[in-house]
Amino acid sequence: MKLTVLGNSGGYPAANGACSGYLAHEGEKALLLDCGSGVLSRLFALMDPCELEGIVITHWHFDHGSDLLPLQYYLQARKKTLPIYAPTENAPLRKLCDCPEFSLHGLEEADQAGVFSLSAIRTKHPMPSFAVKVGMSGRTLVYTGDAAEGQSLEAFCRDADVLLCDAAFSKAIWHEGLPHMSAEMAAKLAETTAHAKLLLTHFPPAQDVATLLREARDIYPNTQATQPGMQIDI
Ligand SMILES: [Zn+2]
Ligand SMILES: [Zn+2]
Repeated sequence: MKLTVLGNSGGYPAANGACSGYLAHEGEKALLLDCGSGVLSRLFALMDPCELEGIVITHWHFDHGSDLLPLQYYLQARKKTLPIYAPTENAPLRKLCDCPEFSLHGLEEADQAGVFSLSAIRTKHPMPSFAVKVGMSGRTLVYTGDAAEGQSLEAFCRDADVLLCDAAFSKAIWHEGLPHMSAEMAAKLAETTAHAKLLLTHFPPAQDVATLLREARDIYPNTQATQPGMQIDI
């Protein structure tokens, strides 16, 4: 299984960037994890969205799902319906995705997304939000989505080969009550895994990523920072 980063910005896209969007793929089979602003155009550069096994939406914040809206027009023209695995709680964006082009499935109940195995656990965030585990051919990707803390995710992340983790803030900026983890917290979560490669993500466009990478590597050396277009073997 491979992971291709389509977008890694938090909140709003960086210049020429994109918000959350990650493609888990093996051979011709692909599963999109989140579909924030800027993600759809990068997806088109790689594949026809009609060929996706489905789309996982970790939560209904706009930076994780807003490109589902123009995707509806694309699917409509092709009379195609795509499965969406997402939180079932009412949210304005979910309402807009209740359409013939999407078949909405509860993320918490799903154990399969096409050929990929799927499981989910709630994270601490201002709206119902999930971390997801995607499996294929004996390899495991865990993506935290948006999460304010990592302790409650430790057991879930333990067997990850790659841990794609919310790491929005530096030590200097992070404080209790923020909706995202710091790079240091991401590294501490990675330390509790058996052997995961840590990928930092969800960077606010103004955040200096080199600082985040340094702070994480001080604790967990097997760490990389995501960048759009990056491809990783899982
Ligand atoms: Zn976000
Ligand atoms: Zn969020």
